[in-house]
Amino acid sequence: MYANVLVQYGAKSLDHTFTYRIPEELVGVVEVGRKVHVPFGSQKINGFVVSISNEKVDTEVKDIIDVVTKELKLNDELLELGKYIKEKTLCSLINAYQTMLPTSMKVSNSKEDYNLKKTYVELNASETTVENYISTNTKAKKQIEILELLLSGEEVLKKDINSSSLKKLLELDLVKEVTKLEYRINPVDILSDEKKLNDEQEEAYNKIVSSFGSTSTFLLHGITGSGKTEVYMHLISEVIKTGKCAIMLVPEISLTTQIVERFYSRFGSDVAIFHSSLSDGEKYDEYKKIMNGEVHVVVGTRSAIFTPVKDLGIIIIDEEHSSNYKQENNPRYHALDIAKWRSNYHSCPLVLGSATPSLETMARAKKNVYTYLSLNKRIGESVLPEIKIIDMAPEFKKRNMILSEDLQVDIMNTLERHEQVMLLINRRGYSTIMTCLSCGFTYKCPHCDITLTYHKTSNHLRCHYCGYTVIKNDYCPTCHERAIGDYGLGTEKVEEFVKNLYPSYNVIRMDTDTTSRKGAHSKIIKAIEKHEYDIIIGTQMIAKGLDFPKVTLVGVVNADESLNIPDFRSGENTFSLLTQVSGRAGRSELPGKVVIQTFNPDNKTLNYVKNNDYLGNYNYEMNVRHMLNYPPYCYLISIKVTSKSYEDARSESNKIVTYLRRTLDEKTDVLGPTTASPFKINNVFRFQIIIKYKKDERISEALDFIDKEYVYNKLVSMDIDVDPIRI
Ligand code: ADP
Ligand code: ZN
Repeated sequence: MYANVLVQYGAKSLDHTFTYRIPEELVGVVEVGRKVHVPFGSQKINGFVVSISNEKVDTEVKDIIDVVTKELKLNDELLELGKYIKEKTLCSLINAYQTMLPTSMKVSNSKEDYNLKKTYVELNASETTVENYISTNTKAKKQIEILELLLSGEEVLKKDINSSSLKKLLELDLVKEVTKLEYRINPVDILSDEKKLNDEQEEAYNKIVSSFGSTSTFLLHGITGSGKTEVYMHLISEVIKTGKCAIMLVPEISLTTQIVERFYSRFGSDVAIFHSSLSDGEKYDEYKKIMNGEVHVVVGTRSAIFTPVKDLGIIIIDEEHSSNYKQENNPRYHALDIAKWRSNYHSCPLVLGSATPSLETMARAKKNVYTYLSLNKRIGESVLPEIKIIDMAPEFKKRNMILSEDLQVDIMNTLERHEQVMLLINRRGYSTIMTCLSCGFTYKCPHCDITLTYHKTSNHLRCHYCGYTVIKNDYCPTCHERAIGDYGLGTEKVEEFVKNLYPSYNVIRMDTDTTSRKGAHSKIIKAIEKHEYDIIIGTQMIAKGLDFPKVTLVGVVNADESLNIPDFRSGENTFSLLTQVSGRAGRSELPGKVVIQTFNPDNKTLNYVKNNDYLGNYNYEMNVRHMLNYPPYCYLISIKVTSKSYEDARSESNKIVTYLRRTLDEKTDVLGPTTASPFKINNVFRFQIIIKYKKDERISEALDFIDKEYVYNKLVSMDIDVDPIRI
């Protein structure tokens, strides 16, 4: 018997399969989808078995050495799914599998055993024998202590007890060692009751339930706090009753803490979780639970869409508009596309939930490609918060550079009522620009085309693209004057200011800098829940989905930050970010209030946010997209051509553009090449080509051609992004 093995070698991963003989002792163990260890030239590497055949191979072939990570494999569905990802994102098959799998399964990883094993000590003699021993050996205090623990029925770990006493007891055959496999994550089954759905929830729920067993996509458009999560949990309960399973995706790790708590208390140990802050061992365990069908529910972030759930009855994507569902490096897949593929494969419904659906999703719902369902009321007595827009121009004249007078008053009132305040500032660090007031020198990254961000806590200026850091000096490096001024707001500066202004209150900052350690997210979230903090300052990380009943005031420190991003989606993204963060206020009985600070008080997007007018904003944005011919009125492909040499990047981009214009349909627009933003990252120059098309049968072939053409090109690299979320 022979196996075709897909391996990864070389920096650029083209697909290579090689044939190996399956040695006698591995027949039956080597299966399609297994990770195997094989000889490769003078090395030994890992690969996936993609097919097995009986046909004799003429050339001499080597033997497979062994099967690796014996408990996990790529099942038929995942093997197929990999092919879809390859086609959709133009990546290699091996790259697709590498992305889909947890570390323990990746071919590049050769650690064998991820199982957590614990050794226990158990009684190995009758109670009478043990009791006799105790009464006749009263001096052996440590031994007796162990035996008494065991008699009382306690679980005793080998590592917790005295080793010489244990040795003695083992020699006497009174105890034995037992090694057990254990999971690292073990939710307890203390389950709370289901809440009774209200009429709106019930109606949405019924419509979705009636589609069980068929492929269909629903948009659940429900305002913040309208009880979408509760609907999801009811749906999942129902799916479990039919013996099937569910995957639910959330956009951010910061959200998993609260959602997972809710899911654990509803479904207990029937839930596996999957997100990037789990350790490799934890992921291995959760993956194994899923693969073995030990759980019915998977909750996680983007990569959880690849978990090998066997019998899917429903897929739910919460906050479907979130850009986090798109992977920003190769393969550039979108979890929504994967979810659609799997919903098709399993004939099960896909539910997309959001308070601010993406324009693409809403447009499909309007065309009845998706079934539109809505929740328009908040739960119980709770109502949407009142939103106020503050013009910062007059505030600046009064020297209120960070918080307007109004917002300061609102904060004080909220704090005095013992409620909590959330402040959104969508930039981390202290300040975003440091400039010499005397000569105009600005700190820029020497390797990238951007300014450095000042981080006061570490007194460093840091490049958020390449990680370059330099210690801050009070004197200008060019003119040596002591005149360095800092501009642009980051979370650290707001934190410092707020701490000074409200010294008797507790302030916490939540951004990627304060949450990089494992478990940091959930620690902060639990502390906020316990009201250990009065003011929460954070980036968009705090905007989505969190449910803190005591947060009654939300302040958006600088709404322009998000509006000014040069991207055709900045209006849409600002609307959803601000609507989401507003939705954190007043989620229970206490009424909420939102203050948005801006230099553009008449801006359309901000006023749609203020009026909670999703449809107004939708129509406005759709109109703009129509006029400028942007998605959803067309499809986009972005091609980045990069090189250490400016000249090479430029001339190769031109060649590609010429080729595309010659090859593609005449109705297709090929724009560029233009310089990408930022133009230089890590000393690499970047050019961008945009393709806009509605229908073009030649596109995949053309892209495939240039992709292959440039794989081994030494001058430039090329990266194709199909359906980019930002350009
Ligand atoms: P969303 O996901 O739409 O933001 P949630 O599902 O988080 O809304 O619901 C908001 C709050 O209302 C939560 O605290 C939730 O427990 C509660 N809730 C939701 N549905 C009901 C219901 N039918 N009865 C009582 N409380 C509910
Ligand atoms: Zn840099």
